[in-house]
Amino acid sequence: MKNSYKVAVIGAGVVGCSVAYHLAKLGINDVVVFDKSYISSGSTGRCAGGIRQQWSSPHNVLLAMRSVKLFEKLESETGMDVEYKQGGYLILSYSEEEAEQFEKNVEMQRELGLDVEILSVKKVKERYPYIDLSGVVLATFCQTDGHANPHLVNFAYAKSARKLGVEIFTHTEVWGIEVKDYEFVLHTTKGKVTAQIVVNAAGPHSREIASMVGVDLPTESYRHQIMVTEPVKNFFDPMAISFSGNFYMRQTKHGQFIMGQGDPNEKPGLNYNVTFEFVEEMCKKMTRIFPFLRNVRIVRHWSGHYNMSPDAQPIIGESTTVKNFYYAVGFSGHGFMLAPAVGEAIAELIAYGKTLHVDLSELNLDRFEKTVVRERNVV
Ligand SMILES: Cc1cc2nc3c(=O)[nH]c(=O)nc-3n(C[C@H](O)[C@H](O)[C@H](O)COP(=O)(O)OP(=O)(O)OC[C@H]3O[C@@H](n4cnc5c(N)ncnc54)[C@H](O)[C@@H]3O)c2cc1C
Repeated sequence: MKNSYKVAVIGAGVVGCSVAYHLAKLGINDVVVFDKSYISSGSTGRCAGGIRQQWSSPHNVLLAMRSVKLFEKLESETGMDVEYKQGGYLILSYSEEEAEQFEKNVEMQRELGLDVEILSVKKVKERYPYIDLSGVVLATFCQTDGHANPHLVNFAYAKSARKLGVEIFTHTEVWGIEVKDYEFVLHTTKGKVTAQIVVNAAGPHSREIASMVGVDLPTESYRHQIMVTEPVKNFFDPMAISFSGNFYMRQTKHGQFIMGQGDPNEKPGLNYNVTFEFVEEMCKKMTRIFPFLRNVRIVRHWSGHYNMSPDAQPIIGESTTVKNFYYAVGFSGHGFMLAPAVGEAIAELIAYGKTLHVDLSELNLDRFEKTVVRERNVV
């Protein structure tokens, strides 16, 4: 480890590694990434890997559209197979009110250039005859949405960043940060380093890291449980999701079905336990909607965290109170899919003082001083 770096990134999840990779691509490779555990050990390695552009907030649509452009070239750029598949996202609505909201969303998404379909129940039945559509009012579908393997994406960014000169130290916790006139002093479990710029990409620990420099981030982490089945013959292309039905589900390249739901009674905090109730509820719900899952065995069940902001949208940018302190946090359930575009945007902010591909102005910390509009399309 050197004594000083231009940029120190805290967190080697998909966001931190994407930031590091994009910085190096722009020629800034005097970069160090610290992770208190291993690469992909946080929310990233625990997530479902869904990548969708169908959001209710225009800036999330645009960020996700940019991410999809970057996902499309990630394998050729990094030389790694990340199991990326554009099998589409099928979003099922179970209420009239939500269906009306979907129609408004689709209008806005199309205005932004996204190719999205509104599907009647009959149309969904024709395309996916093996889904039980009882109670479904309508669905939306976007073919360029899809999924990838989160571990592989995280490692694709980490390995490619390292090749470009970035140093990544795992099992190295940042336990304190001093703010000096022209630099930061980071205290880690492997010693002290200085950096001109610090990026907080600590996922569920984002608030703790910000508090080390006296910034109060309104983020809280909530446990989300998720489970996976044994592999079966591959036939299910899209990610199926419902906000009113509270579930998401997809088949991996290896044939396993991965699925989860949110728990409205979950309290904030870092809880990695799992519950039998989750498995019981999921099995009942998923075998009703996807009857083909009835005799498929569950092989694993785990938990991770959504790092939530008050409006369920990320907080991205430079602190207005501590110069050169950046954050890319509060991603709710969509940090994996946004990581390519966000990494690129943070790198551009650092390199050029402005973003070139996406507008982050609505995602700054100051927005919480005004009335916030919550992203609706979340499980
Ligand atoms: C069950 C579940 C399903 C999800 N499904 C999806 C999905 O389908 N699509 C999607 O886009 N998103 C999904 N998400 C959300 C997604 O996982 C996160 O938004 C995303 O992974 C955040 O990435 P990150 O790099 O910010 O955080 P993380 O991956 O958590 O990385 C943060 C890293 O910071 C490190 N760290 C923390 N504190 C310190 C410290 N003091 N010093 C050093 N290192 C530190 C941690 O060890 C960790 O490795 C899901 C999340 C869960 C839990």
